[in-house]
Amino acid sequence: MDFTAEPFRIKVVEPIKKTTLEEREQLIKQAGYNIFLLPAEKIVVDLLTDSGTSAMSDNQWAGMMLGDESYAGSKNYYHFEKTIKDIFGFKSIIPTHQGRVAENLLFSNIIKQGNVIPNNSHFDTTRANIEYNGGIAVDCVIDEGLDPAFEHPFKGNIDINKLISVIEENGVNNVPLIIITITNNSGGGQPVSMQNIKDVSEVAKKYDIPLFFDACRFAENCYFIKEREKGYDNKSVKEIAQELFAYGDGCTMSAKKDGLVNMGGFLALNNENLAQNITNMLILIEGFPTYGGLAGRDLEVIARGLKEVLNEDYLNFRINQIRLLGKLLTDNKIPIIQPTGGHAIYIDAKAFLPHIPQNEFPAQSLVVELYKVGGIRAVEIGSLMFGKTDKKTGEIKHPKLELVRLAIPRRVYTNMHMQYVSEVLKEISLTKHNLKGMKILYQAAILRHFTVKLRYV
Ligand SMILES: *Cc1c(COP(=O)(O)O)cnc(C)c1O
Repeated sequence: MDFTAEPFRIKVVEPIKKTTLEEREQLIKQAGYNIFLLPAEKIVVDLLTDSGTSAMSDNQWAGMMLGDESYAGSKNYYHFEKTIKDIFGFKSIIPTHQGRVAENLLFSNIIKQGNVIPNNSHFDTTRANIEYNGGIAVDCVIDEGLDPAFEHPFKGNIDINKLISVIEENGVNNVPLIIITITNNSGGGQPVSMQNIKDVSEVAKKYDIPLFFDACRFAENCYFIKEREKGYDNKSVKEIAQELFAYGDGCTMSAKKDGLVNMGGFLALNNENLAQNITNMLILIEGFPTYGGLAGRDLEVIARGLKEVLNEDYLNFRINQIRLLGKLLTDNKIPIIQPTGGHAIYIDAKAFLPHIPQNEFPAQSLVVELYKVGGIRAVEIGSLMFGKTDKKTGEIKHPKLELVRLAIPRRVYTNMHMQYVSEVLKEISLTKHNLKGMKILYQAAILRHFTVKLRYV
């Protein structure tokens, strides 16, 4: 069988409101052609992100009732801590209300002005938090990971030679940590192999640099290792995760992804002095160490979610649902990153709309069209998100890829919704030559894609 049926029954439903083409054209225009500024109620299938959009299970909702809202030492914190220690193995567990706070707490404590931080591909908040703290974020993903059509089982792998060059060129003292993002979000939700993690860990040990994981989608990454890497097919996904984290010194985590919750995150690390400094800062900006910006019930549902996400029937369905959408699009000649990754489909907008130049944001033009034609909300990951203007020369630097990400929320949409998305893209294909590029009217200095206003050229 190619695809699996949803391994759950639906016991609560949220109706989707219908909108007309005319209404959507008006709404997106009012939003400055920025899908972040659209009311979610006016969306048919919302594939903006897989972050914080998961459906919780009956077991998690039951756990909500067991929230112990004591200011300090709630029982839910101990359950949270025990669950994370069991899977991730790190010594200190620091709850935060989102992944980016874990990033900021870590980076503001270890990055000095001009430090260089290698990663396979930095996610946007990771990059922004590094730069805000005076660091330079460098991507070291393998070249195959940058070629959208290239088939490779672990396109998220770090290029070990690139990594060593970054360390040698900048000096060990200027590299305060190495990060591996699993799966590699900005690089297409592509997994990193256990072998690559071992190799990076050896480099990290040789130079005595701490190795951290950006672990948001660790379970999906571990499922790919089980599926694709020799020697892992008989191991459970949990065992694979335990082995993987043992190669590192800590991780940042947004529980809004593989935590299967709507809000939450944590920082986990072995360095106890650093953990103490970070905890002191946590009290200042997030909350007491046993709640860190979350309610007791939130900690409880994260603990339950982290156990559920390792269920292999769930992961099998999850990865195959993405694969199904990928197959439907490929059958309709829509160019996408191959092979499909863990949480999203990435349309190669440069290949799909070759008549729109990079400085006119081809991927954003397609994002807008998806909303107009089908009420589908996707996100641009290209020049709008990552384009940079050189402060001295005024020259615009474009990223290599112009992508439209269709991120699939966990346990929310059925395979029939995937079919619908594919039908809409098929319709767009017929008239794609008429699509126009876009021009920026307003932009903020950092993370501009969230608030940008655009118009057609
Ligand atoms: C979502 C995400 C983050 C940030 O987490 P938030 O909970 O959104 O703050 C960091 N890194 C990666 C790879 C992510 O996907």
